[in-house]
Amino acid sequence: MCDLQSGLKRQLTDWLPRRAILLIARYTPDCHNMTRLVSQSMDQRLPLSTWARMKLHYLICVWCERYAEQIAFVKSAARVFATNSATSGTETISPEKKKSLQADIASRL
Ligand SMILES: [Zn+2]
Repeated sequence: MCDLQSGLKRQLTDWLPRRAILLIARYTPDCHNMTRLVSQSMDQRLPLSTWARMKLHYLICVWCERYAEQIAFVKSAARVFATNSATSGTETISPEKKKSLQADIASRL
């Protein structure tokens, strides 16, 4: 489990009793299992009870929530890259411009 205390969301700790936070921590997956579940959730639909426990864990652990956001971003970026990769990289520069760039680089070495 990651450092749950430092991962607690500040606004949550202001109003949620510590006992409730510990109760949530007890009945939700630990951070190690959360990383595994986050990865699984990107590939397949998880059971509703697992999904709900993950959402509860996000209430008390900013680290796992950030991890899930980062994984979702990487997944979406990979999807966009895969979509656009077929058309990107086909542009070429003229032989004159290429020689000019080579000469410019050589002069700076
Ligand atoms: Zn966590």
